[in-house]
Amino acid sequence: MQGKVKHANKCFVLFIKGTAKKVAFDRFLTRTFLCSFRKERIKFMKEIILCKYGEIALKGLNKSSFESMMTKSVKRRLKSCGQFSVSKAQSTLYVEPLDDESDVDMAVEKLSKIFGIVKLCRCCVLEKDMDEILTKSLDYIEDEMETARTFKVDAKRSDKKFPFKSPEICIEMGGKILERFPHLKVDVHDPDVVVTVEIRETNAYVHAGSIEGAGGIPVGSSGKAMLLLSGGIDSPVAGYMMAKRGAIISAIHFEAPPYTSDRAKMKVEKLAKIITAYCGDINFFCVPFTEIQELLRDNCPEELFTILMRRLMMEIAQRICEKEDIQALVTGESLGQVASQTMYAMVCTDAACRMPVFRPCVGLDKSEIVEIARKIDTFDTSILPYEDCCTVFTPKHPKTRPNLADVEAAQNAFDWEPYIRKAIEGTKPYLIRNA
Ligand code: ATP
Ligand code: MG
Repeated sequence: MQGKVKHANKCFVLFIKGTAKKVAFDRFLTRTFLCSFRKERIKFMKEIILCKYGEIALKGLNKSSFESMMTKSVKRRLKSCGQFSVSKAQSTLYVEPLDDESDVDMAVEKLSKIFGIVKLCRCCVLEKDMDEILTKSLDYIEDEMETARTFKVDAKRSDKKFPFKSPEICIEMGGKILERFPHLKVDVHDPDVVVTVEIRETNAYVHAGSIEGAGGIPVGSSGKAMLLLSGGIDSPVAGYMMAKRGAIISAIHFEAPPYTSDRAKMKVEKLAKIITAYCGDINFFCVPFTEIQELLRDNCPEELFTILMRRLMMEIAQRICEKEDIQALVTGESLGQVASQTMYAMVCTDAACRMPVFRPCVGLDKSEIVEIARKIDTFDTSILPYEDCCTVFTPKHPKTRPNLADVEAAQNAFDWEPYIRKAIEGTKPYLIRNA
């Protein structure tokens, strides 16, 4: 697309083939339009994505193992974006497209979901020469400067041999920007755009705005966890939160056909697929749970149905974990959200567990969980109205204060062992891949 963009009265006026079109002020829209214009103009300019580390930078002697886990994730995710080189220096990953075909927009999108990276800067790469910096970089940042009203310049000079000090770089660059974009004003407190000039080991890098990274620590740095994944809002969020703290996530889902449908299972697989953007590939276990649920219905006190069902789910999940060398369980429970999530109920559930049960949503309100679900794109799928095995045979009056001795007595009154084994035998894992 050929054209020019002007910013006027909260609108963008696009001049396309001589016809002016007004476009409402919207950052996303702006970016989309600007990207195509930018592509034309900076065709001959070298671009790079600088990925800045978060906590990894503080890891001391362990830093390199964290770095290599993150680099692995980065390389894997970039495979679908074209050819990129990935190198590291000064607590930064340098991600550089190797040809014109490589999709830098898509790479930025993928990298923004990789744990361990707190900030992404899409920059132009320049010689460490003040004249080159002052001229070429202005072409690169033109779109952001045209649409901004105020700006400031930030300079970072890690190469102390560069002949200009940071304040001098800011003054020179600020002057050039004002000359070329006379509508702009300097605002050092709350600027629309921060232009950053980084003088590093081999090159100078300039950008006009960074992108927030996913934060956290690299997946793989904290062991393996099994996520009990339902089709609801909470458990995908719980999986995302544990991956953010470095856990490799596998997922287990209990299905109860014909009470639960194929579409319900497909919804859960879709949720797993969505969170692979953050967690990486997920090993998925789908457990046939109908027989155990029917036996529970026919053989146990109704008010203890849910708690006993949860204990049996935990038993099956942890046996699979033991086989797969997975160290912990993860659920989407939040304290007090429903009868099975009171502290009394959690005590009874955990008494059936030999491994830690992590509940990263435990202290979050539903609205806070929803906010994360929207951010990671699982919300719209989670609210599709398909049944879950937990809602099959739900008692009218579940016990909110179950007594552990009563629960254990009720469970021990029946020999579950053959049914647990049968359920595990009927569970065939498969990999849900990050697209
Ligand atoms: P969610 O929104 O995650 O479904 P919920 O608020 O509906 O949670 P429950 O249905 O009580 O709560 O389930 C609590 C937790 O138990 C879920 O977060 C999930 O970790 C696990 N769970 C529930 N149903 C299943 C299932 N069918 N398969 C695997 N895990 C499940
Ligand atoms: Mg649920």
